[in-house]
Amino acid sequence: MDDTVTVYCPYCGAATELYVDPETTGAFVEDCALCCNPWRVEASRDEEGNLTAHVERAQ
Ligand SMILES: [Zn+2]
Repeated sequence: MDDTVTVYCPYCGAATELYVDPETTGAFVEDCALCCNPWRVEASRDEEGNLTAHVERAQ
């Protein structure tokens, strides 16, 4: 099972390896490590446990 996924910051465009706790799915807020703007992350896993994440600007 892979607990990290590469996401791209919607503000500065930086590629970041995002760690998602195995117990965590759904939406949460994470700050960009580079520009410190807030992301709204939607994490999901398929039935094999493969992680995908969608990142957009938090309101
Ligand atoms: Zn950023």
